[in-house]
Amino acid sequence: MEGCPVLEINLDKITENANRVVMRCQEKGINVLGVTKGFSAIHQIVTAMIAGGVHHLADARMENILELRKRDIYNPMTLLRIPRLSNVENVVQYADTSVNSEISVIAALGKVATRIKKTHNIILMVDVGDLREGVMQEDVLDIAMKIQKIPGVKLIGLGTNMGCFGGVLPSVGNLGVLISLKKTLEQQMNYKLDVISGGGTSSLLLVENNMIPEGINQLRIGEGILLGTDTTNNRIIPWLHQDTFRLSAEVIEVKDKPSMPMGERGKDAFGNVTEFIDIGTRKRAILALGKQDMYLEGLFPLEEKYKILGGSSDHTIVDITDKDTTINIGDKIFFGLTYPGLLSASDSRCIEKKFKGRGYLSKLNY
Ligand SMILES: *Cc1c(COP(=O)(O)O)cnc(C)c1O
Repeated sequence: MEGCPVLEINLDKITENANRVVMRCQEKGINVLGVTKGFSAIHQIVTAMIAGGVHHLADARMENILELRKRDIYNPMTLLRIPRLSNVENVVQYADTSVNSEISVIAALGKVATRIKKTHNIILMVDVGDLREGVMQEDVLDIAMKIQKIPGVKLIGLGTNMGCFGGVLPSVGNLGVLISLKKTLEQQMNYKLDVISGGGTSSLLLVENNMIPEGINQLRIGEGILLGTDTTNNRIIPWLHQDTFRLSAEVIEVKDKPSMPMGERGKDAFGNVTEFIDIGTRKRAILALGKQDMYLEGLFPLEEKYKILGGSSDHTIVDITDKDTTINIGDKIFFGLTYPGLLSASDSRCIEKKFKGRGYLSKLNY
């Protein structure tokens, strides 16, 4: 649609980011899973990751994995959210591996796998402190022994998740727990575990600093490849591109208005009460972009002198006073995106996607 907000996607930069992450990790014997949930598995972006050397893909949603299979992407895929008991059929059919923490789900996966003569790989998630998914350390051996007895599934390794619910940072200590659990399991079960999956983008800092414990041989990377940022450690990753995505929206009103609303005040359209500070009259632009389109808090203006004042379901209001160039009706204002911003913009049917650059991709003939 003409004039819709546009999410511009630089495929070449994503390919380069993917390649840099893969190379860095390879030096440490680490295999990178390219995580696709942050952009709803848009297939062109997935292809850009693959062109950068990512072989193994991962997503939290079966719906995304199914979509990629329909696009004839046959790379190995890991389901990153523990499966729904009601959906084990699809998981076994379309994902090679899933992360798990519930024996009843693993048994159900095994049943389907046996029926259709497949082996489904299991990564047992261990909670080392972030308190999202995973079995507690003291229960690992017991549940691993149980998994070993279930036909149709194979326990291929241990994994952990960090920086998501509790904001716990990956460390030599908490990743070390995973490695020592692996050793205990291998001795007790007389069986080798192939994979020790040590987290996501937030674990890259340990790779950079040569601190990643030996034995961690898989990381699941989304944010770093996509945005070159690491939210958990509150940093940009200096050896990656940050200008991979950009969102533009069209200006539909420009006016000087007071900074304080006038009249008796109730709640805003979303039931919130906002505090205003009187800083005099300001020049404001209104954009044809709103909360129905995406999570507006996930945007930041690329022009540093602009400030997002807020928004409602269909409007975003930007203070443009401090920038001296004029903004006209019909102009575009450009924004960068945070990871949650990207997640919502890529999934929005009101936001058009435009792809830039396909140098590496044209060779691949997708
Ligand atoms: C989303 C997710 C990841 C990827 O995290 P990033 O911070 O995007 O690298 C890794 N593992 C699990 C289990 C996830 O859900």
